[in-house]
Amino acid sequence: MVDKVLLAQPRGFCAGVEMAIKALTWMVRVFEPPVYCYHEIVHNAAVVAAFERAGVVFVDDIAEVPQGRPIMLSAHGSAPEVVAAADERSAVMVDAVCPLVTKVHHEVKRMAAKGYDIIYVGHEGHDEAVGAIAEAPDAVTLIDPSWTLERFEPEDPERVALLAQTTLGMYEWDGVLSDARETYPELWTARKSDLCYATTNRQTAVQELAKQASLILVVGSENSSNTQALVRVAHNEGVAAHRVDGPGAIDPGWLEGHSVVGVTAGASAPDQRVQEVIDVVAPANGVELLRVTSEDEYFPLPPSLRRFVQTLQALVEGAVAARKPGQPGPIESDREWGATEALELLEV
Ligand code: SF4
Repeated sequence: MVDKVLLAQPRGFCAGVEMAIKALTWMVRVFEPPVYCYHEIVHNAAVVAAFERAGVVFVDDIAEVPQGRPIMLSAHGSAPEVVAAADERSAVMVDAVCPLVTKVHHEVKRMAAKGYDIIYVGHEGHDEAVGAIAEAPDAVTLIDPSWTLERFEPEDPERVALLAQTTLGMYEWDGVLSDARETYPELWTARKSDLCYATTNRQTAVQELAKQASLILVVGSENSSNTQALVRVAHNEGVAAHRVDGPGAIDPGWLEGHSVVGVTAGASAPDQRVQEVIDVVAPANGVELLRVTSEDEYFPLPPSLRRFVQTLQALVEGAVAARKPGQPGPIESDREWGATEALELLEV
């Protein structure tokens, strides 16, 4: 029997995911269904299913969207040609890209314009990697963190930049960075790595969990890169770890012989799933919070959405601005509500 659950803090929703979920909630509240979303808004099966029930259609090709219908682009960032196609096709296009992904897009454009060859460390085919590389495909070589740098052949070894997907494992990034610095002493890289605060905080929390727990359960979906990185970090610390989408995925045999079980969640996993997982683990002596840091990052809703809703609010003379049950909060006081509340509204 499990004696105690150690619950990581921070875990779960990051500021980018909060923003994207709230933005898509606004879209389904303002427009008649269907609302279209290019790629999964965030990589979590429960979140995607909640939006599908609320009338969102997820597509992998902008051409699938009927002319004029509202479109949202996912938090992972989209290729410039996708943004342009969506803008042309839709009367209302909202890009819910996380600002920390946008920062990497800018780095790709800037370094390519300066004539650098770019190593982009990321996972082949992942939405974020595809979108970032598309900013300057001729200048970028994708290197998976498990590969060596051998397949990268720069024209000028003194003009090489190293950029990364925001959700890599910290130890993976450190490995590639030290190899690249050794091979290219003039290497350019961002002053702080491209790994985002949410990635590094959640991984640091897993490292701390691993000091006290012999098993770690990571709540999140299979296609969530940062969730998978949390599992790899736990394994790297020598601790058994499993990713679970929810309580139904737990094999009771995993829990045998573990008195302290660590629990955390990827940046796109709802906290409700975490609580359900803890209920199944059923620790005899309850849950202890293991806090490594606090997060107060907040990303405002996309400007095009804010402008659109403000115009609408003005038109209906406050009918939307006054908060009612089943309505998102006023767009001006977006900080006052969260993505968890937004997901609850979808079920109303
Ligand atoms: S994991 Fe990081 S980069 Fe991705 S949405 Fe969250 S804050 Fe943004």
